[in-house]
Amino acid sequence: MTAAQGLRQPLERLYREFDYGARIELDAIRFPLRYTDLRDREIVGLLTACLAYGRVDLFSRQLEGVLAAMGPSPAEFVRGFDARRDAPAFGSFWYRFNRPRDLVAFCVAARDLLLRHGTLEKCFLAGDAAAAGPIGPALERFARAFLEADLREVFVRGKISRGYRHLFPLPSAGGPCKRLQLFLRWMVRRESPDFGLWTSISPARLLMPIDTHVENISRSIGLTRRRSRNWKMAEEITARLALIDAADPVKFDFALCHKRMSGDCLDRRDARVCTPCGFKPVCLHWKGRRA
Ligand code: SF4
Repeated sequence: MTAAQGLRQPLERLYREFDYGARIELDAIRFPLRYTDLRDREIVGLLTACLAYGRVDLFSRQLEGVLAAMGPSPAEFVRGFDARRDAPAFGSFWYRFNRPRDLVAFCVAARDLLLRHGTLEKCFLAGDAAAAGPIGPALERFARAFLEADLREVFVRGKISRGYRHLFPLPSAGGPCKRLQLFLRWMVRRESPDFGLWTSISPARLLMPIDTHVENISRSIGLTRRRSRNWKMAEEITARLALIDAADPVKFDFALCHKRMSGDCLDRRDARVCTPCGFKPVCLHWKGRRA
């Protein structure tokens, strides 16, 4: 039996039987899910994903304040954004690398891109000339559209802040770009809990958003042997998942991430936790040991 055959059944079962409802309120996806208007969901999805680093409880608290300041329609807030008038709304925001002016810059860039393209999806598609093949070049152009926006009204000396740059990692830098991959998963995948708003992009082109939880469990079940969490690891894990579902390889992301996050996998042998786990026959932590 190949490794992919050994993983197919437990992965599909995990995907099918996972209790998504029990975990959604603990996941960043809950923020864009609050909005029924698709344009709100798109802009809140991007802002949430950009800030989704570090401890979930800490960034969630900060994001709650930001969304409250943006009012009932964040998309309308961004479209009518006036830096001089609206910047004070973010005055109390303070999260690790990011300061209020980074949010002001986000709103200025998003406002101008929405004015030019109409939606974030169209902005993404403008940089996706091939509309097929690897997603990296299009994601690079999308991130660059924000990084190279005219932000002189925010950064008067013309030098953008480190915090703003941190919001938009570039694939060309070699990192996994987990937050932008997560944003794409939310927008593109057609099945719940994702939104399926960006219908012109195939889910087959997405890459796994690799955070520490997905990295750990992927290594345990043999999806990767790489030591560094980077773009190549995201490609390798996605390629192995594509052997199981080529049309939608990142569908396993939510369940794998939350299995590890919730303590249903401790990334080590544990008789109590591992006994019901479907991955036990293929798990490296149990290799060579009797069940
Ligand atoms: S067998 Fe245990 S360590 Fe391996 S994936 Fe399952 S829960 Fe995690």
